[in-house]
Amino acid sequence: MSTGNGNANGHHPSLKSQLWESSELYQNAVLELQEASEIMRLDPNIAERLKVPKRALIVSVPIRCDDGQIRVFEGYRVQHNMTLGPGKGGIRFHPEVNLSEVAGLAMLMTFKCSLVGLPLGGAKGGIRVQPNQLSREEAQALTRRYTSEISMLIGPDKDIPAPDVGTNAQNMAWLMDTYSQEVGYCIPGVVTGKPVEIGGSLGRAESTGNGVVYTIAHAVNHLRDTAKSKLRIDSSMTVAVQGFGKVGSIAALEIHKLGARVVAVSDYAGGVYNMDGLDIPQLIEYFEKNKTLVGYPGADAITNEDCLAMNVDVLIPAAIDGVITDKNVRNVKAKIIAEGANGPISASALKDLEERGTFIIPDVLCNAGGVVVSYFEWVQDLQNFFWTEKEVNAKLASVMESAFKRVVENQQKYKCGMKSAALITGVDRLQKAMSLRGLFP
Ligand code: NAD
Repeated sequence: MSTGNGNANGHHPSLKSQLWESSELYQNAVLELQEASEIMRLDPNIAERLKVPKRALIVSVPIRCDDGQIRVFEGYRVQHNMTLGPGKGGIRFHPEVNLSEVAGLAMLMTFKCSLVGLPLGGAKGGIRVQPNQLSREEAQALTRRYTSEISMLIGPDKDIPAPDVGTNAQNMAWLMDTYSQEVGYCIPGVVTGKPVEIGGSLGRAESTGNGVVYTIAHAVNHLRDTAKSKLRIDSSMTVAVQGFGKVGSIAALEIHKLGARVVAVSDYAGGVYNMDGLDIPQLIEYFEKNKTLVGYPGADAITNEDCLAMNVDVLIPAAIDGVITDKNVRNVKAKIIAEGANGPISASALKDLEERGTFIIPDVLCNAGGVVVSYFEWVQDLQNFFWTEKEVNAKLASVMESAFKRVVENQQKYKCGMKSAALITGVDRLQKAMSLRGLFP
């Protein structure tokens, strides 16, 4: 097996390149894969192929800004593995997006889609831009030009994007329109997370946050059965949520509706804290009006770091990756960490948490609700037949329950952490498919 500098006989340079590996997110994803591979004794030939993406496209995205100047942004689309079906993965607008990060996120999508049993592969896209500094016109121009630049890679049978950090249903509507204009007729199945009026699915907007809360409920039951835990989702449970976007705000709302006390919430600008529990519907209203959590009355101001260090039962990091690292892991006190975000915990911080008995609900399981309902949206678009919200939510709950069970079974079978168990569950299905399809040529 290759050591990274050459293949087994050392004659050929490794396929791996420095290009992929520059981000911590990618390095972490590979480390997690390596660990899972060792535990499950994965065929090294399969492991080697999974460490690198299948293909990537880097595009320049020029737009005319409101001041009349043309500015050029860098964009990416990476397809990591498409053994199980077309690529699937969000588009991120963030100033720190880079090729390696997008590649790492695409890799996580591969494992996530496989874990929850979807006939889809892993992909991801992004543009290096600060989205809240764009006007609506600039955001539209950027989305449309990016779509046009990556149009040779995407399509309902090829690769289906969705929203991620910094993008929303409106961006997906522009993407769908641009692609359809280029082809000449309406193709809603090219993208998911669209508004319902143009082929989006009921329940998609809430699906990731809902899924996060379903997995917390399963974790609570599991800990009660296996570790004599007394945790219950009622007013005795305290919760902190980092990130108040599409995932964090819905996860906070849903767990609040179940009766838990959400005591702390933060976003990039800071956060708020109230030991008696925040009124989440009221906080969402405040956020929609003021575009910030800061200044919300009836709560104390906190920083993002404070939010992660809260003495709570459940911590939901639902903002960005790499927020819990060696530097702050000792401050983290939560009993359960539900990874709403992709890659919020570094590999070494994870070891520390697992040694201390923190129950981790891994990202590829915890936030999979989004891609599950994206899959439902794609299926509905292809059939031109739409389901009720009740149907969507019932199917989502059943997929999440079965995925949680399979991960726990693997955790018990291999006596490993939840993170490795989740990857093993995803990789196991995938490796069977890869072996059956074989290697071309
Ligand atoms: P979003 O853009 O709607 O929200 C992101 C939130 O994170 C915002 O509240 C923002 O203020 C906050 N944030 C950004 N940078 C931050 C920083 N440096 N420190 C603290 N907070 C910061 O994005 P989202 O869709 O909610 O995605 C959040 C996470 O969930 C990402 O890791 C994403 O990949 C993951 N995820 C999203 C979906 C989905 O369906 N949207 C699905 C699966 C996983």
